[in-house]
Amino acid sequence: MYFCPVAYEMVIGLEVHVQLRTRAKVFAPEAVTFGERPNTYISPISLGYPGTLPVLGKACVEAAIKLGLALGCEIPERFYFSRKNYFYPDLPKGYQITQEAAPIAKNGLLHVRLPSGEKVPIRILRLQLEEDTGKSLHDQDPFYTLLDYNRAGIGLIEIVSAPDIRSPEIAMAYVAQIRRLVRFLSISDGNMEEGSLRCDANISVRPVGSTTFGTRVEIKNLNSISALGKAIAYEFERQVRLIEAGEAVRQETRTWDGEVTLPLREKETADDYRYFPEPDLPPVAVHPAWKAQIAAELPELPEVLFDRLVEKEGLFPDEAVLIVEDLPYAVYFKALVEAGLPVKRAANWLNGPIRAHLNATATRMEDFPIPPAQIAALDTLVQEGLVSLNAAREVLFPALLEDPAADPKTLAETKGLLLVQDETLLRQWADTVLAQNPDKVQAYLAGKTGLLGFLVGQVVKLSQGKADPRRVSAYLQARLTKADKPA
Ligand code: ADP
Ligand code: MG
Repeated sequence: MYFCPVAYEMVIGLEVHVQLRTRAKVFAPEAVTFGERPNTYISPISLGYPGTLPVLGKACVEAAIKLGLALGCEIPERFYFSRKNYFYPDLPKGYQITQEAAPIAKNGLLHVRLPSGEKVPIRILRLQLEEDTGKSLHDQDPFYTLLDYNRAGIGLIEIVSAPDIRSPEIAMAYVAQIRRLVRFLSISDGNMEEGSLRCDANISVRPVGSTTFGTRVEIKNLNSISALGKAIAYEFERQVRLIEAGEAVRQETRTWDGEVTLPLREKETADDYRYFPEPDLPPVAVHPAWKAQIAAELPELPEVLFDRLVEKEGLFPDEAVLIVEDLPYAVYFKALVEAGLPVKRAANWLNGPIRAHLNATATRMEDFPIPPAQIAALDTLVQEGLVSLNAAREVLFPALLEDPAADPKTLAETKGLLLVQDETLLRQWADTVLAQNPDKVQAYLAGKTGLLGFLVGQVVKLSQGKADPRRVSAYLQARLTKADKPA
């Protein structure tokens, strides 16, 4: 890191765009798609033909209210749309319908949880509902830029944070948390690579202790959370060097190319856009009963679930993070618990064999074949000492993947995995192993208690896997303290 005598701090405000996964576009009837043949999901409205009129989709409004409520925002009783005028080929109308003076939600607060567990409050200034633009394709033809309007008019929510963020780590955690939230609310895929979650970073620097803000630079084209962190770190250092060299930071929009930020254009000001209220759409009243109904339908939010799992249920943060990362995981986890599994065992199954299977076969959680009740039944066999955990994970779990409706206990029987319950037989096996290993027994009694695992292993081996390691262990421990003490 570049050495500089004055301590500077970074001031960051983020604009996150969430692409809504509603059935139809926000002001037009055609379907919301991704990766389809260019210009096959278009209409006169999204192509901006003269004389067409937008019609506001209720699903987009509800998604925005949901997200606003989940971010602790006020939902004003009335909102309306504005026109943001600018010319660009991906915007055939020559203006974007967005919100300015009267957004759908405002004045929220997000407690951003850092990997250390610390929580940092970041204020949310506002949420605005707007339409996406088409896509310019610069790499399909050597001479021309081509245009795909399938994306034009898809609903977007822009979440604008206050300039409260002070480090790349907080910025990254903020975006990760919003991504989790939109997935939990089932309003967006939140996929940064595919562009269904996009983020612009505004960054300025100032001497530590200063109460005024420096000139901000806006960085675009951040297509991953790690790119966001790197771009902020780079831009901070660039601005500090400029100031230290006695130069001014220019207010501009820059782009991140993976290594450095580069100038893109001079920053437009609000005046350049000639905002005015959208005359083709009436203001919308949000009736308190409607708002209350949407609030009542909110699921348990990921951060609430995380806190509950760690603080009340005793999971490690690393385990809980995996569960709250994605809604289908959380749903499956809750179903395991409802089927009777203790929280810790549910987490072990989900984060262990289930996750390993999904990763190995590139299967989505939604398509995982074994019903939660079957995993619970399997685990019950282990808890009752009928099969070993090892057999359950290594043999019965794969068998259930093959035949998800099979009865786990019958499977254990047919595969000869039921543990021997007969105490006399267990003792015979254990005593045989003790007799065969007098040296190990002596060493154990002399204090090398780690040898217990070896002895248990020998018994299980002798029994051909039919002895319950937990019962063998208990028996050996009791047996080896009483008798056989060296003289
Ligand atoms: P624009 O229309 O220029 O994108 P917005 O109001 O939508 O403006 O977004 C402004 C963003 O810039 C907000 O996230 C805000 O927190 C952030 N911001 C404003 N001033 C500064 C500053 N001096 N330094 C860093 N970020 C800032
Ligand atoms: Mg903006």
